[in-house]
Amino acid sequence: MPELVEVELSRQLAGALAGRRVRSVEVPDPYASPLGPRALAQALIGTEFGLPRRRGKLLLLDTDGPTLALHFGMSGRLRLDGRTALGPLRYAPSGLEVRWLRFSLGLEDGGRLELFDPRRLARVTLDPDEESLGPDAATLTLAQLRSALGRGHRSALKACLLDQRRVAGIGNLICDEVLWRSGLAPSRPAGSLGETELHRLHRQLRKTIALLLDQGGSHTGTLTPLRRRGSRCPKDGSPLARSVVGNRTTYWCPAHQR
Ligand SMILES: [Zn+2]
Repeated sequence: MPELVEVELSRQLAGALAGRRVRSVEVPDPYASPLGPRALAQALIGTEFGLPRRRGKLLLLDTDGPTLALHFGMSGRLRLDGRTALGPLRYAPSGLEVRWLRFSLGLEDGGRLELFDPRRLARVTLDPDEESLGPDAATLTLAQLRSALGRGHRSALKACLLDQRRVAGIGNLICDEVLWRSGLAPSRPAGSLGETELHRLHRQLRKTIALLLDQGGSHTGTLTPLRRRGSRCPKDGSPLARSVVGNRTTYWCPAHQR
């Protein structure tokens, strides 16, 4: 968290930035920007925003100068003119307390863009290397998925899907939900998927992301509330397993995920 879904909702919120100019830059937590407050201010003050973009979990705010990139880390949240895009985040404090404000832009019309992050993992950068990210999971084609998984044929399917250089935007919750819906075991070698399985995974990936977006968060799937010991699979009633795959806590159903 936040995953593609949360960042996409923030992108939609940031649409209201288009055509507005930056008047001031504040970085209350210097840790939030490797560039430092002075460089950010020099690059951004006076620039005008265009339409925001997203690639994976990265929010890209193009201006007529540099592109401002927001990385939300584990608990970053955006507020624009006092409005937020998200409800409470799972596994993270949900308040927008002043002490969690890491970065803020004043706009010439009096508006304000603010980035809050209790866990201090959010980052603000300029002109990021977008090409280091894989294709976006929300618009991934079957051919792109095939190529993302084929190249990592021996590593676990889940590890490949979480690798942002292969596919951008999938985090732990979306990944477990998609694999559960696809009936695929997270630890399967990525290259072992047959053509039917690949099609199924692709279909479920697109469908699940659309559903979670519609429901307002990557925590709104069927599996997420069952991420606790003693839960059973809603499809077949079997006990869900908890294991570590790709260094992440993974919930899955050994009965129907193969
Ligand atoms: Zn099951």
